Amino acid sequence: MVSKLEPHFNSWAWSDRHVVNVSLTYCQRRNGQARRNKTLTHSNETTPGLYQRTLKRSIHCTGVGLHSGAKVSMKLKPADADTGIVFVRTDPRGGQAEIPALWDRVVDTRMCTVIGNGRGVNVGTVEHLIAGLSGAGVDNVVIEIDGPEVPIMDGSAAPFVFLAECAGVEEQNQRRKVLRVCKQIAVGDANRRATLTPGFGSSFSFEIAFDHPMMKHNVGSLALEGDAFKTDIARARTFGFLHEVEELRRLGLARGGSLDNAVVISGDTILNEEGLRFDDEFVRHKILDSVGDLYLAGHRIIGHFHGWRSGHMLNNKLLHAMFADAASFELSEITEDDLQSESWAFRPRLAATA
Ligand SMILES: [Zn+2]
Repeated sequence: MVSKLEPHFNSWAWSDRHVVNVSLTYCQRRNGQARRNKTLTHSNETTPGLYQRTLKRSIHCTGVGLHSGAKVSMKLKPADADTGIVFVRTDPRGGQAEIPALWDRVVDTRMCTVIGNGRGVNVGTVEHLIAGLSGAGVDNVVIEIDGPEVPIMDGSAAPFVFLAECAGVEEQNQRRKVLRVCKQIAVGDANRRATLTPGFGSSFSFEIAFDHPMMKHNVGSLALEGDAFKTDIARARTFGFLHEVEELRRLGLARGGSLDNAVVISGDTILNEEGLRFDDEFVRHKILDSVGDLYLAGHRIIGHFHGWRSGHMLNNKLLHAMFADAASFELSEITEDDLQSESWAFRPRLAATA
């Protein structure tokens, strides 16, 4: 079904109309005068989301850090309502430091998203795990980790969704809170851009445009509801060009990187024997990264994210811009309305134009 709110992959035209359509109802709602227009939406029964969730039991995994190459052991533990996602460094160098997975704890975004406690204890490459927790609907979890980097696993979020499913996810007594976008926020420049726009439900779209025949212009969108993340996004792996990987290795990075945990491209060839998991795996992975980076807001965002050649740095800047402007968002308990959104499955567009 083509809906009124489907982005037309021309984010600016779409965003402008969308703002006009939607922000009025949000403003009215903020003044306590009106509720949102339900006629634009339909419910998704498979998205029970009024109450916070945590894991039923602890679960453990091991792997290597993408950049450090070091073996890391990680334990995901159930946590009380309103805890959020909190890392605890259990190795001697980490000194039991607690680092909440929040936008204002981000200390580095050059190669991946790194959070820190401000006193030099960090956890890197958090975005795929955080995306997996978001996709699995987990609000509260304590993550004990014995090194400075989340294991890269297969380079996607699927192993983390699997971990959450193995542990089981259960509802808690406290109602969820959500961040509603009340007006458009945009960051970026002529070469890259990220925006948040008022909208129904939580949705993401992304455009990549690399100077490469496989990724010239590649667009996709997703509503974060039901199993959509697990089905359409979670398995998309991180990717890089061979010459970049070689350069990173020279700089002492990507030591744990291999064809087991990244798609590597050389010329117009995919070096991984098994090829791609999706024809448009790259843009799907950029959506995965964005879901993880945006969940660092501390709550699910009700609105639409659009990234055009964006990355971890710009995604984090977008959250800083939103939190710097108190009129741009509203933090309050989730309502039935928030569970209703445009039910897009992933909508790929492989455009030969542009
Ligand atoms: Zn990534």
